Amino acid sequence: DEMNYQPTDPCYLDVLKQYFGFSKFRPLQWKIINSILNEKRDNCVIMATGYGKSLTFQYPSVFTKRTSLIISPLISLMEDQVHGLKASNIEACFLGSAQENTTQIKKELFSGHYRLVYVTPEYAISAIEDFKRLDANVGIDLIAVDEAHCVSQWGHDFRSSYRKLGILKEEFPKIPILALTATATMEVRTDICRNLALKNPHLECTSFDRPNLFLCVEPKTKDISSDLKKYMKRVGYRYSYDGPTIIYCPTKKTTEEIVGVLKGLGVSSLPYHASLPMRDRRMAHKQFLNDELQVVVATVAFGMGIDKPDVRNVIHYGSSKDIESYYQEIGRAGRDGLPSFCVAFFGPTDFNIFKHFVSEIQNKTFREHKLKMLRRMESYLSITTCRRRFLLSYFETKDLNEIGGTTNCCDCCRLRLTQLKNGLPASQINNSQAVTGNRYGLTIPTLVLLGSGSKKIEAFFKSEIFGCGKYRNQKFWGALGKALICDGYLKEKVVHGGFGSIVEMTFKARDWIKFATSEKSQLLLIPSGDLL
Ligand code: ADP
Repeated sequence: DEMNYQPTDPCYLDVLKQYFGFSKFRPLQWKIINSILNEKRDNCVIMATGYGKSLTFQYPSVFTKRTSLIISPLISLMEDQVHGLKASNIEACFLGSAQENTTQIKKELFSGHYRLVYVTPEYAISAIEDFKRLDANVGIDLIAVDEAHCVSQWGHDFRSSYRKLGILKEEFPKIPILALTATATMEVRTDICRNLALKNPHLECTSFDRPNLFLCVEPKTKDISSDLKKYMKRVGYRYSYDGPTIIYCPTKKTTEEIVGVLKGLGVSSLPYHASLPMRDRRMAHKQFLNDELQVVVATVAFGMGIDKPDVRNVIHYGSSKDIESYYQEIGRAGRDGLPSFCVAFFGPTDFNIFKHFVSEIQNKTFREHKLKMLRRMESYLSITTCRRRFLLSYFETKDLNEIGGTTNCCDCCRLRLTQLKNGLPASQINNSQAVTGNRYGLTIPTLVLLGSGSKKIEAFFKSEIFGCGKYRNQKFWGALGKALICDGYLKEKVVHGGFGSIVEMTFKARDWIKFATSEKSQLLLIPSGDLL
């Protein structure tokens, strides 16, 4: 049974309990570890953030009492892991070109002192001879390549030092390689296997679905304070988020600006970006982990290696550059499985800078690829259909219909749900469409509902529906109209030679209004809720 995939020999679980404190493997963890230890196979693993990647490369040599090499691009992350491992009585070290007392560490290394050796990709390439000696003296069980998507130009975080790692398979053909990443599309997967020269790799991929994350998009206004307040609660004179919160910003300048705004609202926060001294960054990280700080306002520099299970909100003030980055960033919310909230505030100019970077790429294929990635992110922000499905369809080749639906996974689905309960506004917008003769886009019928004095709708000033939708603002009617189009109650047409699109009522809407206004229906009795 896939879900209960556990070792039969109890000695494996004993080591798991003794060193890692877990009583069971997660199903994929054991599958991967088993294939490393007992089949000596290469693995290419795509694991959703929070599933438990680390164990898959930390476990094998703890079990065999030999050694594993871990290659990662992030020194601070490696240092954190080394600390953590030492605290669990697992000997581990870090080797990099800037590392001091390398001679001492190497001496211990060759005598078999370390279970795990963390290295940067640059160092790995330069230390082949050392590793050969290590393999001869102690035995290397595994070479793990973390953040393996960095080998691929098609991914979101290409690093040229990763390209050279292909040499490892050549030099150590018998040692299994484990390539790991949290995000990868098909193209990136193929690239990982090819560039690392994996032999008949065992491929694994966890589901990307994170049903406890609520997804939501908001337009930025010019007023950061009121934007942010929207998702805070008021406590006396102060504001507060519901639990630990990360706010991501595209620039260092914005992080500082938002820290200032939060201060004004009485919310404790610290900035985190690459220009701050290491000391400050560590302090922000530590205080956040210990719940002494409610909010970290960060650039993307903050993230990899954060293991705080109860982050309740991940807020983007400005869009990410692509879906992969966005998915990885929101993946830091709700690792404990409890409901958590992800909102992206974005403005129409957010993509200008990204587009500028893309325009500077010389290679045409690559430039177009990057542009495609940007566009997908833009689509995510502007769709009115389910955002969760949209994200999943980006990573998984599955038929969308196989992805189970929830009614409350994102703002779009919630809108649709509310809209069903809001029979009155929906039927009003449909009516207005009909009254204005199904000849316009959404604007004219909306102005009629709002009772606008605009000359454009003069002809409808006397209509009985004129002004009947005053109880809602223009934004509401616009959003509802779009949702009705998505659900097939209104149909959008583009006519040859016409200006813009025309929206008309469908048969589905006629039937529905007939039902909604009939005596059988309770729909119209439900007052419109707090939608927007
Ligand atoms: P990833 O790197 O995939 O995001 P981590 O390796 O940091 O994830 O693990 C995520 C969380 O899951 C950690 O808090 C870790 O302690 C926990 N975890 C990992 N494996 C197990 C297991 N077998 N049983 C219970 N908890 C686990």
